[in-house]
Amino acid sequence: MIVPKAVASLVPLAALAATQGQNPVINPELSRQQIWERLLPHMPAQGAAVHFWEPGWIYESCKHEAELRGLNANDIEVFNVHYGDCGEPWIMCRHRAVTSPTRDEMIDIFGRLPVSTRQYIRHVNVFPDLGNGAAGLFYNYNIMFGNGYMDLYVLIHESSHALDYGARPDVGSPFSETSAWQNAYFSDSASPTPYGQTSWVEGYAEMGPLGFYDKHVPGGLGNIQPNKHQIQNQLNTFTGYLNWVLDFGGTCRSRLPNTEPVPMSNSFRVNMVNKPDVSFKSNVTVMDLPETPRIPTTKKHLPKRLHD
Ligand SMILES: [Zn+2]
Repeated sequence: MIVPKAVASLVPLAALAATQGQNPVINPELSRQQIWERLLPHMPAQGAAVHFWEPGWIYESCKHEAELRGLNANDIEVFNVHYGDCGEPWIMCRHRAVTSPTRDEMIDIFGRLPVSTRQYIRHVNVFPDLGNGAAGLFYNYNIMFGNGYMDLYVLIHESSHALDYGARPDVGSPFSETSAWQNAYFSDSASPTPYGQTSWVEGYAEMGPLGFYDKHVPGGLGNIQPNKHQIQNQLNTFTGYLNWVLDFGGTCRSRLPNTEPVPMSNSFRVNMVNKPDVSFKSNVTVMDLPETPRIPTTKKHLPKRLHD
């Protein structure tokens, strides 16, 4: 029997059969639309200024991900988004074939995350299709979305992967593989969603939208989930260990370094004078967080839309 190392190191062999997934899925199962639609009005928009990059330049993370999917970097727009609550912009890329989100929607929805959560994200990339049935992808604090999937639910799910790896390295990275999280799971009688049963990191990420909902929607998750108590320890542990990371207000204190600007075309000579400067100009602390695996979120596993 081959045992994944991370799991083997944390739980005795005899308990393996009863790890993630032993708890039944909470009933009723909530749809992802039900959650984001009610949460959205309680996540305030943040004003932003947008600055497009000079023609011919793209950043390394976006170019690499585009090439993996056979996409032409020249079909991608690259821009800095300067929100009012951070001295440094977030650099994003969007393939022009994407219809949802529009550029404005992309900027608006990401800006609704509290800045203390947002600062754990390096870049936001959207492509027409991520491939392999993926709706979203988290990798090294970059979050990516396929066409039609950058809604508030999937955004918080992907951002929760970043928080799992980056927000509490003092406890463990990922936090979801520490006893602090797993004890909470085993103390509960339910899993948040079927997808949350597939692994520890997905169980944590699926708790993200519910944690934001419970914290920010007046009345909490009990408004739509009568059996909320069955996942109460996971909710408390998610929000308790993140604490102010989930709060609105304030300004960014730390940021992750941007990936390097590179020419869109490998053969085309770009004007080096126009090379974008992605270094930090304000006094934010530069974070050095643990590297992460690539974590795709598959479309078929996401909680259903209301009318699917
Ligand atoms: Zn995921």
